[in-house]
Amino acid sequence: VYHADLAVVEGVVREHVTIHVEDGRFGAIECDSEPPSGSERLRGLTVPSMANAHSHAFHRALRGRAQTAGGSFWTWRELMYSAVEGLDPDNYFRLARAAFAEMVLAGFGAVGEFHYVHHRPDGGRYDDTNAMGSALLAAASEAGIRITLLDTVYIHGGLAPDGATKPIEGAQVRFDDGSVDAWAERIGSLVLADGQRLGAAVHSVRGVDPGSISAVAAWADDGGRPLHAHVSEQPAENEACRAAYGRTPTEVFASAGALGERFTAVHATHLTRDDVAVLGDSASSVCMCPTTERDLGDGIGPSGALGAAGARLALGSDSHAVVDPFEEARAIELDERLATGRRGVHSTESLLEMASANGHRCLGWDDAGVIANGCRADLVSVSLDSVRTAGVDRGAALEGVLFAATSVDVCDVIIDGQHVVVDGHHVRIDAAAELTGSIAELFAS
Ligand SMILES: [Zn+2]
Repeated sequence: VYHADLAVVEGVVREHVTIHVEDGRFGAIECDSEPPSGSERLRGLTVPSMANAHSHAFHRALRGRAQTAGGSFWTWRELMYSAVEGLDPDNYFRLARAAFAEMVLAGFGAVGEFHYVHHRPDGGRYDDTNAMGSALLAAASEAGIRITLLDTVYIHGGLAPDGATKPIEGAQVRFDDGSVDAWAERIGSLVLADGQRLGAAVHSVRGVDPGSISAVAAWADDGGRPLHAHVSEQPAENEACRAAYGRTPTEVFASAGALGERFTAVHATHLTRDDVAVLGDSASSVCMCPTTERDLGDGIGPSGALGAAGARLALGSDSHAVVDPFEEARAIELDERLATGRRGVHSTESLLEMASANGHRCLGWDDAGVIANGCRADLVSVSLDSVRTAGVDRGAALEGVLFAATSVDVCDVIIDGQHVVVDGHHVRIDAAAELTGSIAELFAS
């Protein structure tokens, strides 16, 4: 039993909240209540856990290594490919375990791992063809975070203007299963633990042709599984797609039958008006990754228009240039202010929903991301007396947290009823030391 000073219960900030937890789920929740004897106090504001709906765990190794070289998204991609070279199942397990622990410390209860480094550096298969994906699943278990492994199809090296696909080359040989059938056969043998789901991902229109996108969408439909794809992150991707197919990436996904409630377009930065309408009408989700999009110079996506059109917005930290759900959430609103000159397009409640319930839902966790009887027992308590949050009006505590707190202000994290962060420390993992060690190892190899 927990007793929170303040908690967001079903979207509303309530005081003196007693929260019962049984078998990893919430039981009775009583507001304006005295702390029951033996209950554990949660200080500050307690919110549901956040979902990091778009992650590539190994990108964490690039932090602080890719800022000053200049260039563009495409030159950054070369740096990213150089980190791919050193990855093997053992060092990826260690790096991902530390990266996931950092996410848990920041208040994330679930991660959507968009996983595409499947094979050996020369493209050969590991003895266990899912050795890399299994390493990620094991890392998530140890870090205490739920995971949806979005196993990714990436079978072409790019698009030619005549609509032909370019051959896979260089680091990309590690991503390539050869065909959707071979991909489906490989992932059929993945073994999942409690708190783990399997979903599909299409890397992008650059990496997967329209016929193959249809086949992946059919696979996801059959199993009722999430389907994610990078969509219109860069203008060059749109231009190549138009030249090849005479359509935008969103239109390619729409005509391949991919859109709908189970589909998540990642980034969706450079959209036409029609793209926005199609994503909204189909009730697709859109996962924006604002700290990565700013880091890579991608641009500002139309979050206000997408929300108004009916798309559900979620958030991801993608390249992990920053791992901080509060920063991602406020960036949605603050970027919209920069782009439109208007303030308050997104309410604080809707920003929390993007970070929590919407993110969980697009990863297939319909029963998480909200503090309510029967849901998965995830709680994140955020200090209201740190130097950043001190003086915040208790009546507007959610606004104070979303616009001023950082991941450092997270005190306690409970995921599926397990208390994994206590007083700002992960109960099993020294994330900073393990990040230092695993990243040094990766670049030494
Ligand atoms: Zn990505």
